[in-house]
Amino acid sequence: MSPLVYLLFWSVRRQLLEGLDAEDLERMRHVRIELALRPELEDVLRGCGGGEFGYFWGTRAGESDGGTELPETEAVGLIRIFAGNIRPFCRATLELVLRHEIHHALGADEEDCDLAGLGSYHIGRALEAAAGASS
Ligand SMILES: [Zn+2]
Repeated sequence: MSPLVYLLFWSVRRQLLEGLDAEDLERMRHVRIELALRPELEDVLRGCGGGEFGYFWGTRAGESDGGTELPETEAVGLIRIFAGNIRPFCRATLELVLRHEIHHALGADEEDCDLAGLGSYHIGRALEAAAGASS
């Protein structure tokens, strides 16, 4: 993967985390955020489809995780974003995809994401807009 892809990813990741309020940032403390080109075997075994833009895997904030010592209000897990599936891959599209997954980690389901303007419809529109802008 090009270093520019990583630079953009780290920049957007930082921007979104810095934009969270202190409480949400605290809830995200135990969520790793990673970038990969495309889903690999471990992702597929977690239920990720080959064409997905990304996923959150773990225990959402506010859910019981069945017995660790962490408070239930914190999310625990992993967000993986797939640069090769986000076309075009640019700040606007990456930001929306990552925002969607952070929203899940913080407790949202798909309907909550839709209501927050972060649903698959909104991501589809952003991809179309970015494709139009670059052609
Ligand atoms: Zn989702």
